[in-house]
Amino acid sequence: MSRILIVEDEVAIADLEKDYLELSGFEVEIENDGKSGLNRALSEDFDLFILDLMLPEVDGFEICRQIREHKNTPILMVSAKKDDIDKIRGLGLGADDYVTKPFSPSELVARVKAHLARYERLIGSNIVENDIVEIRGIRIDKTARRVWVNGEEKQFTTKEFDLLTFLAENPNHVFTKEELFREIWDMESIGDIATVTVHIKKIREKIEMNTNKPQYIETIWGVGYRFKL
Ligand code: CA
Repeated sequence: MSRILIVEDEVAIADLEKDYLELSGFEVEIENDGKSGLNRALSEDFDLFILDLMLPEVDGFEICRQIREHKNTPILMVSAKKDDIDKIRGLGLGADDYVTKPFSPSELVARVKAHLARYERLIGSNIVENDIVEIRGIRIDKTARRVWVNGEEKQFTTKEFDLLTFLAENPNHVFTKEELFREIWDMESIGDIATVTVHIKKIREKIEMNTNKPQYIETIWGVGYRFKL
């Protein structure tokens, strides 16, 4: 259920808006002064804000401006004066819509629904799934650069992470130490192929049950390493 915060000092208007929105299935909270309204807007999660312009303590302009510094939640501004609406537009505070008093409650509800629907589409299209590599008990989140082994998170250094990810993304393929060194360490790096051996050892300590009998990264004697599929 969508939660809406109304910041409105005229109690009768706030109650009317609340009644209509609740009839349409929304959960509605009211604050009657700007300061409490701003506090709640910033500290709680709402799906939409309805802000009156002229408010005691902190006005609707300022609330709108501060919400926009932190959130993209739709904001509907309500004003008694049509001139004010031109002013709000001119200020570019990031409000999504403007309604002049008096307005019909059903018009308000229609606008609220339209903005919530638009916002939900927007959020939906912005959700980007993390890039995950999963092989048996190992789960590598490439986006967050985190690794879980049988559900337990393990810490890896940057190069260990890169090496493990590279091998896991190319399973069943044998890489020589030289190839791995070139792939993970740039040419300018200080170090040599022994670095690869050291990193493989450290990775195994974190992912293998028994490092003498590796289940994930196999040593192919005389050649290099392979991530077992
Ligand atoms: Ca007012």
